[in-house]
Amino acid sequence: MSATIIDGKQVASEVRAEVATGVAAFVERHGRAPGLATILVGDDAASAVYVGGKQKACAEVGIQGFDHRLPGDATREQLVALIEQLNADERVSGILCQLPLPGHLDGVEMTNLIAAEKDVDGLTVGSAGRLALGLPGLRPCTPAGVIRLLDHAGAQLSGAEAVVIGRSNLFGKPMAQLLLQRNATVTIAHSRTRDLEAVAARADVLIAAVGRAEMVRGRWIKPGATVIDVGINRLAEPPAGRRSSLVGDVCFDEAFPVAGAITPVPGGVGPMTIAQLLANTLQAAELQAG
Ligand code: NAP
Repeated sequence: MSATIIDGKQVASEVRAEVATGVAAFVERHGRAPGLATILVGDDAASAVYVGGKQKACAEVGIQGFDHRLPGDATREQLVALIEQLNADERVSGILCQLPLPGHLDGVEMTNLIAAEKDVDGLTVGSAGRLALGLPGLRPCTPAGVIRLLDHAGAQLSGAEAVVIGRSNLFGKPMAQLLLQRNATVTIAHSRTRDLEAVAARADVLIAAVGRAEMVRGRWIKPGATVIDVGINRLAEPPAGRRSSLVGDVCFDEAFPVAGAITPVPGGVGPMTIAQLLANTLQAAELQAG
């Protein structure tokens, strides 16, 4: 038996359709659309592509986009003033400061200036604290998207052994918290974990977010496990028989015959992040509107 493929593109398009419906209802009730402000400092090409993708996605579901750009030599004071202005702007439901910032600006400090109710990336200390305490709040987009994929795949989380490989603030830690909230027994593994293979092999739900191409091998996977591959790694050229040079942290060809369900790369977790950002923006607008 081989694994069921968890189709992130399909689930993301379902989320976007739900958001579009929710946005239309919001406009009906409040006479204005939810708004997402993005801030891009400098001219990093990859960041510009990400921000452009987020603005385009907003337009497609009826969210008003506010696209703010500052030059790469913008001062701390300029960026602080912009964030404060957006915090006070009632048309802006959510604020996203694209990271990384140029070296002279502190991404953690700047992110934390975003008002809690507008923190649609869920990355401020306040949002992380609310998540850790099990209080309602805006959740980081990629881990929230993974929960949605797990639910779509029918994964049983309560009581399951879940292993998250990677402990970043962006993904691994909030992912573990969300799994804990769903009553999984959670292990967070990282670069100092002893015998990672044995730890991974215990997992009913195995989530890899490392950034090392195809590190998780087929023999690491418990037969029938649900495998979520968060990694995005670009190889010099596509692997044999593939069109894309993007690969995940899981060796898909080895995992596929063993796992019960698995996300592909590309087309798995990746599409969920922007979809969840849109969902968070609508949620933020609804909370602010009471
Ligand atoms: P990160 O901040 O670099 O964290 C990587 C984690 O992997 C760290 O906790 C590190 O452990 C751990 N690690 C590194 N080498 C390891 C090894 N040999 N064995 C076990 N653990 C190891 O990365 P991130 O931001 O979480 O992202 C991880 C991957 O997910 C990247 O490929 C990124 O592109 C992708 N990603 C995708 C999306 C999306 O699909 N939208 C969103 C976010 C991230 P230590 O803490 O001990 O160093």
